Amino acid sequence: MAVQESNSPVSLEAKSPFDLRVDLGKDVAETDVRSALATGDMGFLHSFTTGSTLDGPGVRVVAWTTGCMWRCLYCHNPDTWTMRNGVPVSVARATEQLRKYRYGLKVMSGGLTISGGEPLMQDRFVVKLFQVAKAMGIHTALDTNGYYGDRLSDAELDTIDLVLLDIKAWDDARHRELTGREPGPTREFARRLAARRRPISLRFVLVPGQTDDPAGIAEIARFSASLGNVERVDVLPFHQMGRYKWGKLGIEYKLESVEPPTAALVEQALAIFRAEGLKAY
Ligand code: SF4
Repeated sequence: MAVQESNSPVSLEAKSPFDLRVDLGKDVAETDVRSALATGDMGFLHSFTTGSTLDGPGVRVVAWTTGCMWRCLYCHNPDTWTMRNGVPVSVARATEQLRKYRYGLKVMSGGLTISGGEPLMQDRFVVKLFQVAKAMGIHTALDTNGYYGDRLSDAELDTIDLVLLDIKAWDDARHRELTGREPGPTREFARRLAARRRPISLRFVLVPGQTDDPAGIAEIARFSASLGNVERVDVLPFHQMGRYKWGKLGIEYKLESVEPPTAALVEQALAIFRAEGLKAY
């Protein structure tokens, strides 16, 4: 049986990804979720947001997918971990949504970014959405932790103009503590993108006491510089905007008392990346 698109009045547009959204796809049967994942004809989205200048070049429309295989201690969108917290959306409905924005995006030199959650949990849906965007002449960007990068064929990679690759930590044990998984597949994906000369915009979240060890940052910086396809690095200061979600979802939040990094700490991290010749912001 094909997955039925939600009849709920829930708008696909949210003011911000920090809106808490839960259970929007809870009535979808497990078998239907599996069929949606296999075909990509239907996906699960937290929302679309417009006007972002932080998720790729120009002004972006961002499709926030639900579902993630990691459990980052600092995740600000834990409601996106569960796929069925998202709204079931057909490719046709997502296309219609994208069509509304296409001229504005061109005028503002922007494009479509697919973020999450982890978009590659729904790799077939993501591929279909990017194909639609490319057919409309819209710039495409994928914001990913890269863990499932091998789900994309080389031809599919070529429909993605820019990969916003999140590197969380270098050290294996630290990475596992922070995310629940090992760092190898993300690095493998980065190397594959480099070999295919696909551009990367690297993202690194600076969390005091978790990811601020200068030696670990230096390893990430060296690795990034060695790839040759990292166009920029964004050091993203940890913040507490998603803290309330952990409480509402009843999940233990271990970073309750962690403060955002000081300006000096951010500068120190930026200097480490710049010392390797990278453009870091
Ligand atoms: S990879 Fe992203 S969405 Fe997944 S847990 Fe980490 S921060 Fe959250």
